[in-house]
Amino acid sequence: MDLSKHAYFEGKIVPLADAKINIATHGFLYGTAVFGGIRAYWNEEKKRLFVFRPWDHYHRLLHSARMMAMSTSFDEESLIELTLELLRTDHYQQDVYMRPTFYKADMGIGVRLHDLKDEFCLFTMPYEKYVKNDTNAHVTISSWRRIDDNMIPARGKVAGAYANSALIKTDANRAGFDEALVLDQNGHVSEGSAMNIFMVRDGIVVTPPVTDNILEGITRKSVMEILRSDMGLQVVERSIDRTEVAIAEEFFMTGTAAQVTAVTKVDHRPIGRGVMGPITAKLRDLYEDALRGRNPKYKSWNVEV
Ligand code: PMP
Repeated sequence: MDLSKHAYFEGKIVPLADAKINIATHGFLYGTAVFGGIRAYWNEEKKRLFVFRPWDHYHRLLHSARMMAMSTSFDEESLIELTLELLRTDHYQQDVYMRPTFYKADMGIGVRLHDLKDEFCLFTMPYEKYVKNDTNAHVTISSWRRIDDNMIPARGKVAGAYANSALIKTDANRAGFDEALVLDQNGHVSEGSAMNIFMVRDGIVVTPPVTDNILEGITRKSVMEILRSDMGLQVVERSIDRTEVAIAEEFFMTGTAAQVTAVTKVDHRPIGRGVMGPITAKLRDLYEDALRGRNPKYKSWNVEV
């Protein structure tokens, strides 16, 4: 971490090195925090930095906060303003990752959500690639199950719930896989460790519905629009069985960090011809253009810093 960058902490912008919480803080002790993951992209031709869909990210973050009984005077607009101010402070001229968090800020012992103070903080960092094999990822089906919405809100980004993602990811990596697909309590393929999933079967793009314990991904929403309106494809939201993965023509994962990652093998079985398929390849290019503010059609997705 570059500690010379800045952060928003306890109501003001401070050097990241000074943005410290106490070890007795509720959010640290119990994982009672909700977070977002937002990216800004540097456009070299325009020499400008564009934040990707910050309104949607903050809208989801405020929903996550609401699910965890948090209250805040921030709304989407004021959070965007603050984000732009922070990015300007550090004069970024490269891709950036942003991590906004609401957390239970009181100190002391006692598991609950009510009668606790909520705080907001935000830090930024230069971005590096998340999935190394993003054109030919090999995944396994995790032996862990995805958290169920009746256990911890699956459509919220709750910090404590990422212990589930971490178990999924580490066991997959240690077994030699790039990523894992995780089944929900009903045995349907829900997600990757921190990305949404799509498969192509008979030329139709299929992704699990928001009621299959997925995080309602902003990348998911964006690529669904590109697939439909730029590529003329049919996109269907329905549950996916595990055996469908191996017989799909193409398979890819989406996320702010993962972007569009092609999955070409599942548990040593090739998907399609075992190489990135044409729909995934085309989508990756169109999505990249949208991210960097190169497609006027998606201008509203890019907020200039
Ligand atoms: N699922 C999980 C569990 C995630 O953590 C993420 C990353 N935020 C995603 C899906 C993808 O969501 P998004 O496209 O909004 O980043």
